[in-house]
Amino acid sequence: MPETRIREPIISVLGHIDHGKTTLLDWIRGTVIASREAGGITQHIGATDVPFETIKGICGPLFDRLRLKIKIRGLLFIDTPGHEAFTNLRKRGGSVADLAILMVDINEGLMPQTIEAINILKQNRVPFVVAANKIDIIHGWNSKEKIENQQQHVKDEFYRKFYKLLSQLSEQGFDSDLFSSIRDFTKQIAIVPISARNGDGVPELLMVLMGLAQQYLTKKLAIERGAPAKGTILEVKEERGLGTTIDVILYDGIMRKGDQIVVGSKEPILTKIKALLKPKPLDEIRSPRDRFENVPEVCAASGVKIAAPNLEHALAGAPVYVGGPEMVEKIKREIEDVEIYTDMTGVVLRADTIGSLEALINTLKENNIPIKKATIGKVSNSDVIEASAVSSEDKFLGVILAFNSSVLRDAKILAKNRNVKIFQDKIIYKLLEDYEDWIEREKERERLEKEGKVVTPAKIRLLPKHVFRQSKPAIVGVEILAGTIASGCRLMREDGKVVGRIKQIQLEKETIKSATTGDRVAMAISGVTMGRQLNENDTVYAFISSEDMKQLSEEELTEEELAVLREIRRIKRGIRME
Ligand code: GDP
Repeated sequence: MPETRIREPIISVLGHIDHGKTTLLDWIRGTVIASREAGGITQHIGATDVPFETIKGICGPLFDRLRLKIKIRGLLFIDTPGHEAFTNLRKRGGSVADLAILMVDINEGLMPQTIEAINILKQNRVPFVVAANKIDIIHGWNSKEKIENQQQHVKDEFYRKFYKLLSQLSEQGFDSDLFSSIRDFTKQIAIVPISARNGDGVPELLMVLMGLAQQYLTKKLAIERGAPAKGTILEVKEERGLGTTIDVILYDGIMRKGDQIVVGSKEPILTKIKALLKPKPLDEIRSPRDRFENVPEVCAASGVKIAAPNLEHALAGAPVYVGGPEMVEKIKREIEDVEIYTDMTGVVLRADTIGSLEALINTLKENNIPIKKATIGKVSNSDVIEASAVSSEDKFLGVILAFNSSVLRDAKILAKNRNVKIFQDKIIYKLLEDYEDWIEREKERERLEKEGKVVTPAKIRLLPKHVFRQSKPAIVGVEILAGTIASGCRLMREDGKVVGRIKQIQLEKETIKSATTGDRVAMAISGVTMGRQLNENDTVYAFISSEDMKQLSEEELTEEELAVLREIRRIKRGIRME
């Protein structure tokens, strides 16, 4: 049996933007630096190491209650750069993160990026704890007291928000509870209320992480002493005086200066480590050029910058292994295993890293959307050509979905010429929603076309105090001021912005196809939230696309409709002139 040692668990902090990921990491770093606890912390490249002794210091007497058996040196937190691709830091068969903190602003609850993070954690089976952040915003919150000892109205407010979060998590399929009420952490997800700003609850959060590590990871963290290193590229970066470098999280083995490594890329790069670099302590930096310190070797788990020749085409999210030419094929296969090339009728996918591509593919599979091709990189002409070929078989699948990837200029032009739709977003969830909305709109348009119906000019007013539902779809009472408006029609505001689509029209609780001047009806409008894109008392118009404009025959319109048409034209012209 080879000798083993226990490495630190790698922790990633995930969640919606502005829910407090950076603040939490800053608090942990700041507190430790300020208090100069035994061991302090070690800043890595792209990660922060919080030693066991330090955690013990932060947690105080709480710690002894944990009765830890596991001998881990500490926790390695992956720093959270404001970059979506870091959400899925992968390695073969899973995630680089051993555990995760799902950051949720308790005042806002689950948001699109939270749900996306949950899906990625589910896909990779990463155990996680929910940090219910920003409890200090609750009016009257006393930082020095536990929840049970807060004033009654504070407690009421807290529990109202807490139970809402609980039910949102349950909608996502999780049984969760307050961490202190949980008996079996393998059956329930722990929620720890915290304030990342002032540190309330953070010791408890760290304790739960240690507990989870003990429960889930004891075997996983045992690594062979002296084994060759394995890691994942966080970022490919140009550094003054060093050329192109890669920032890597090592999750296994040991890496030494001079080692031969294979670096993930479309054509894996076989190279030799020129330097292994760690950040220098702040007080030792003399000039911006000497921010790094050379080290002879690094052991997992850690974050390190590697300088080596020929790293220009290294791929963020791809693997790095210590080893020789035999590893080249292995890495190539690893990337090819994620990429998809088929003859199927399906959508074309692009993502910027291997991890983000994997997350995108998984989400599409869950939604039963067939995939023709899925590759890493920017959207290119070949993608457009493939999507365009698919389009002739199934127009709804002949599209390109680009997650965090840009579109090459030529491809943009070709896509316009071939009428291929490209969807782009930094959130998978939104990308899919846009795509599905488009399908719905297209189907509706086709239906209207089949019925030979052309949108005619119409003007309506949203009645005050008649909002029956805020969104999904919004339901409001409206009055038709002029013209005829039918379900399926899109709406345009007075400022020319096109918002929402009429899903259904009801008169006296009966669904009707269209409503005309003077009618007061209830309208279900999809794609808007009342109070955001639309408000009570707003006047809105039937949106008439340029296509529909061409088909309108003015002779067939009434005086009233012609007047509205003039208003619509004026608004559309106004926008064009801006
Ligand atoms: P990230 O996008 O998830 O990294 O969020 P940040 O850490 O940048 O936080 C977003 C904003 O929320 C910042 O203005 C923080 O100061 C604030 N914030 C974060 N945590 C807390 C908290 O616990 N309480 C309060 N009141 N504000 C917080």
